[in-house]
This record gives sequence, C-alpha cells and structure tokens, in this order.
Amino acid sequence: RTTQKRSLYVRALFDYDPAKDAGLPSRGLAFRRGDILHVVNASDSEWWQARRLAPGEPDQASMGIIPSKRRVERRERSKQRRVNFNSRLSSQSSGPPLSPSMGSSAAASSTLAASPDGSVDRKKSGSLLRRLHSGSGRAAASGDDSSSDDASGSSAPLVPTYKAVQQSKLSLAKPVILLGPLKDYLTDALPAALPGRFDQCVPHTTRQPRDGEVDGRDYHFVASREQMEREISSQLFVEAGQYNGNLYGTSLASVRRVAESGRHCLLDVSGGAIHRLESAGLPPIVLFVRPASVQNILELKPGIAEDQAAKMYDRAVKLEVEFGNLFTAVLSGRTPDEILGQAQQAINRHADEPVWVAIKDEQ
Ligand code: 5GP
Repeated sequence: RTTQKRSLYVRALFDYDPAKDAGLPSRGLAFRRGDILHVVNASDSEWWQARRLAPGEPDQASMGIIPSKRRVERRERSKQRRVNFNSRLSSQSSGPPLSPSMGSSAAASSTLAASPDGSVDRKKSGSLLRRLHSGSGRAAASGDDSSSDDASGSSAPLVPTYKAVQQSKLSLAKPVILLGPLKDYLTDALPAALPGRFDQCVPHTTRQPRDGEVDGRDYHFVASREQMEREISSQLFVEAGQYNGNLYGTSLASVRRVAESGRHCLLDVSGGAIHRLESAGLPPIVLFVRPASVQNILELKPGIAEDQAAKMYDRAVKLEVEFGNLFTAVLSGRTPDEILGQAQQAINRHADEPVWVAIKDEQ
C-alpha cells in the first residue's frame, strides 16, 4: 500500500446518516466524523461516489454515495438560517469545559480537493480546489458568505465538511490514549512491560507548586489563570479542565515534545482529544478496553463494588458509541495480563504504520 498521490482521500469532519437524507439518488454511505473516505468519483456537483476505509482492514471498504462538499455546506447553512445558529457549530466539538472552541480546530483547517475519479484531471480538480479553498478560507477568517450557489447572508459560519488527507509515515512516536476500564493499570503496566518506550507528558496547572515539586518536571506551573485561559482558547491544549478551583491541562507542545523524543506519550484524556491530536499532526494510537459485561469488570478489577462496575460498564458502552470509529484497537479479555499483552501487540503493530494526515499544500 503506497501513497496514491492522485487519488482523493478525505477525512470526514461530520457524521452522515443516509437514512436521514431524503434526496439520495442511489445507495448512500454512512460515515462518522473522523472516518477516512476514498472519493472515487466527484464529477457530480451534488453527490460523490466513495469508499469508507475500515481502520486496519483496507480490503473491507464499503462503497456508496455521499453528499458533495458543496451540498453539505448549502444544506447546513439553510438549516442554520432556520434554527438559531449561535451554538450549533461549537456544540459539535466535544472540547473540554473551559474551551468550547478547542474541538473545532479540524473544522478550521483547509478543506477538500477533489479529482473526479482518483485519476488526474488537473484542470477540473484545480478549479474545484480553488473554489473549495477560497470558500473555506473566507469562512475560517470571517464567516463565509458565498459559495457560488449559496445565497446566504454575510454571516454564515464555517461548515465542517471534508479535509483532504494523504498517508504518511510519521517520524515521531505516536501518543497513546487509553480508554475504558483498566486505563490506570495499563498506564503503570505498559512502561514496565516495554521499558524505554513510553513517557508521561508534563501537564500545566495554575495551582501553586508544593514543597519538592519542580517546574517543568511535575507540572508546568503557569504564571496566571488568565494566561492559561488565553492559551486554552488559542487551542494550545489537548484538553483542560478545572479541579479544586485550579486549571489543569495537557498542552499539544508537551505531547509533541515527548513524541519527538521517540517515546510514546501515555495520555489520560477523553475521546474528544483524538480529533484535536489528529488536527495537530499528532495522530494517537487509541486503545479501548471493551468490557464484555459488568461481570467481566468485576473479574478484571477484583474488589471493585458492583455498582461502580455497572457505572464503568455504562461509561464504556457510551464511549464506544461516541468514539468507536476512532479506536485503533479494541482489547478484551478475562485478566489484566491478557489485556496488557494485547495492548503491547497493538502498540507494536501500529507504532510505525502510516497515518492519514492533512494535505497542507493542495494545489
Ligand atoms: P494535584 O494538584 O494534586 O497534583 O492534582 C489534582 C488532580 O488532577 C489529580 O487527580 C491529578 O491526577 C489530576 N491531574 C493533573 N494533571 C492532569 C492532567 O493533565 N490530566 C488529567 N486527566 N488529570 C490531571
């Protein structure tokens, strides 16, 4: 599998359910935000033909029709004219509580370039590209007003659609996000099982240093709350939150520092951080421990109360519903050891695998 320069691959920036789309000319293809789509034919202005790639199983792609970028934008804007569009876009992002804008960085990035069938049609794809670009550029900067077919006023916000991506080998060690039960166990057990391969990244906080704590080692102690709030709204953080009146957060820079040192950064973050890391060029390996049942959690975590296990199970189910398409590997087993073994295998297997990254200089 090599990078196919001339084919068009995109990352979806929104969820699409063909069952809720009335106008489909033929079989639609469902996808979720974050999915990679191979656009096979974009010659129609309303509908494109695409394959949805299954993570880790490229041969199992499903095929169908998806709405074109232009169609998505037009429909979204007309919807926003009907409802009050104040909060809609920001509510799509699942950013941390203090930074409602953090999750929208993907949407603000450059959007799609299309060539009709994966082959080259320079002229056509060039002009389409320019159109797409100029549209999203204005949108990002000042509120787009006018794709050629869009009659909305001057204040329509950016509509997240598709982003052109290509496969690339990373020169840095991918961060690892652990989700689901056993996350704490794995955070301790993985570095012991694979010595020298992992590092924790140093979080930021607004709280005062305690005796013996060293700035830059235990935390980056920030000078003021205002400064950290500014940095959070400038999207410099993977995730941030408040605890006991103080802000805590993991900065993209500290994750990048670990990744560039060649070690996998073990991250304790929520599923919403996956998109933010991807947008920042730090695509994570996402390992999810899927409990088979409440009973399974009781086996994996002896001593835990049954109601705690039940809550944990519910949380895991919800997590998978929301972010399942972004998981790199799903782990399951009856003992922590078994799951640790699977986690090691998954990391070894996916550490050097090419990833889909945004094409920066589309022409
Ligand atoms: P402390 O102020 O006692 O060092 O930390 C307070 C709490 O915040 C602890 O439960 C600690 O684990 C948590 N915490 C500190 N930094 C981070 C972070 O970057 N991410 C997450 N998820 N929790 C953090």
